[in-house]
Amino acid sequence: MSTDFLDDPSEDDQALARLNEIGVSLDPEIPYRLSTMFPKLEGWGAKGGIKKKAKIIAQVEPSLKAMLHQGEEVLYIAKGIQHSFAEQYFMGIWAQSINQTVFVLTNVRLLMLRTNGKGKPKQTFWVIYYSQIEKFKGSWTGVLQLKLRDGKKLKFTGFPKLDRKTMPVVFEEALAKYRELGFDPEVTQSLENLCSDCYQPVAKGVYDCDDCGTSYWKPKDVALRSLIFPSWGDLVLKHYTIAVVEMIGFFMAWAISIVLVVDYLNTGEIGAIIAAGFILVMTHGMDALITYYVAGKGLHPRSRQPTHAANV
Ligand SMILES: [Zn+2]
Repeated sequence: MSTDFLDDPSEDDQALARLNEIGVSLDPEIPYRLSTMFPKLEGWGAKGGIKKKAKIIAQVEPSLKAMLHQGEEVLYIAKGIQHSFAEQYFMGIWAQSINQTVFVLTNVRLLMLRTNGKGKPKQTFWVIYYSQIEKFKGSWTGVLQLKLRDGKKLKFTGFPKLDRKTMPVVFEEALAKYRELGFDPEVTQSLENLCSDCYQPVAKGVYDCDDCGTSYWKPKDVALRSLIFPSWGDLVLKHYTIAVVEMIGFFMAWAISIVLVVDYLNTGEIGAIIAAGFILVMTHGMDALITYYVAGKGLHPRSRQPTHAANV
């Protein structure tokens, strides 16, 4: 695919003129490369696409301003949904509520922000340097795949076709620059966690930010809470929708178990007690397992430094 459009200043002007015409304005403090940000300016669906994209951009701009480094330029922004088979299996459609992800491709790195459905950032952020990406590929089936250098594979759905087509091109171009410059930053894992407060990298297996002191939930602490009371783990992660769904499951499991115990008391049928025990172990155990997995995917703040508000 041609990448000629990437560095043409006149195309930036063209994009800017089109944005003004549509009535879309972006934060002037953020360096955007408009020619890559908006690859489709005219034609069927272009205007609607730009407006939709602008809404997502507006949601992430406040975080982005704090995240970007000196000289960093934003090349592309898009929103998709991280797909995990295990989560889809155990939480069904509800898994989507905790997996909305905005991609920000800059000239230096890929930033990933966990967001709500509209693109408003939550508290979990990651960085992937392009040198850590072995495969960045969109498919006609609607899936976007990332294969990382440390073997991790990430799958996303929900990115519009234009995004699935453009992002790999932007990535290839940025990676070529890396190779030219011999740029290969050191990381502790390919998908590096970023602090929710100061956006500095937090090393693999570390749950306190060295830079600002914010501390994060350890997956085992969250899982233990879910083992005791299903949905407790998701409450501390602020996954409220999932927590409500789990709480309904929890009460149903207990209601059925109580009925079974009453049945045992009346009939002396030992099978009822075994069934009740099985239901409770499954409900609590599975919830703990899945919460452990979810908590391990990124950082979730446990406490914030009181100085935080003053720093922003
Ligand atoms: Zn920090």
